Amino acid sequence: MGFFADSLNRIQPSATIAVSTKARELKAKGRDIIGLAAGEPDFDTPQNIKDAAKKALDNGKTKYTDVDGIPELKAAICAKFKRENGLDYKPSQITVGTGGKQVLYNALMCTLNPGDEVIIPAPAWVSYADIVMLGGGTPVYINTRMEDGYRLQASDLDKAITPKTKWVLFNAPSNPTGAAYSHAQLKALTDVLMQPKNKHVWMLTDDMYEHLLYDGHKFYTPAQVEPGLYDRTLTMNGLSKAYCMTGWRLGYAGGPEPLIKAICKLQSQSTSNPSSITQWAAVEALNGPQDFIEKNNAIFKERRDLVVSMLNQARGLKCPTPEGAFYVYPSCAGTIGLTSKSGVKIINDEAFATTLLEEEGVAVVHGAAFAGSPAFRISYATSTKDLEEACTRIQRFCGNLK
Ligand code: PLP
Repeated sequence: MGFFADSLNRIQPSATIAVSTKARELKAKGRDIIGLAAGEPDFDTPQNIKDAAKKALDNGKTKYTDVDGIPELKAAICAKFKRENGLDYKPSQITVGTGGKQVLYNALMCTLNPGDEVIIPAPAWVSYADIVMLGGGTPVYINTRMEDGYRLQASDLDKAITPKTKWVLFNAPSNPTGAAYSHAQLKALTDVLMQPKNKHVWMLTDDMYEHLLYDGHKFYTPAQVEPGLYDRTLTMNGLSKAYCMTGWRLGYAGGPEPLIKAICKLQSQSTSNPSSITQWAAVEALNGPQDFIEKNNAIFKERRDLVVSMLNQARGLKCPTPEGAFYVYPSCAGTIGLTSKSGVKIINDEAFATTLLEEEGVAVVHGAAFAGSPAFRISYATSTKDLEEACTRIQRFCGNLK
């Protein structure tokens, strides 16, 4: 087998997709299942964005486009970066891909050599480590702590950097913890990367949940907080989450031109351009009205508060209140070693999640999938009624543990 096949043997299928698939299968068999595993909003894509896609179809925008994005979309992305993040990128510094996942994948494939290390604060999104390994790199997790709000600490970052470190893969608000950073907290991290001994380290920031922040928390991105990092930062973002466009598949990034060119070269030999229709919808998403985001966030915040409060009433669970995203990440340390009503010993968070699914029909993702145990992730991007019922079932499940 070749290098790539060997790499493939080192990775796992996405755990979040696996749990969602299992929940869907059980549902199809007639079981009463509430799925809290999928990382996507239950809200529909805004009408003006759908209309832009219909118009694109009617106007024959159905051909190949430039590999890494139509000029109109690159212009809209440059304007977004300027307007929302104070970042100046030229169109030649923008890449557009089929989802943020592809942009990340491209960036890591283009830059990693065997043995290069990528620092990943954990708990972390399931795909980071596997994509790093596919690229021949070595993921280096830094464990964050619940007491620190699951935020990466500057001293831990500094300690983890070696001469082989290529990237820090940063994500805030975070999937799975919802943790976000103030300007000062982020500056403490960028200061570490500005130290002369750390100047070989690049920042790959995944800003996918930028707009999903509550309680007046403000968003900052690393190159904005530390302009000195601009030349070694890739600022990645996308439309899936805040714009409720998971199925449309569109992500983008701004960064140094040579890296953007390399990404385009790789994409030209794999998927080529993202869907032309999606790109025209994305132009409308970025340039059109943004007020639906605030409306959706008000609903998300209410759901977050409901879930945090109900989970904190479940025996053995401890659930911090996250600043952003649409996830909560309760610790289930207090349930480990106990036995469920059907006699299953909860030896770890995977046993917690599978037994909860079997006994109460609630699908959550176990913390081990995010390299953060013992805990589990709940996506509250689902109806309030289902959330209430799911949390009642979780309370019952925990209450029955002996
Ligand atoms: N980054 C994070 C942290 C995510 O949670 C996700 C999706 O779950 C992505 C990137 C990828 O998003 P997409 O490929 O849908 O743009």
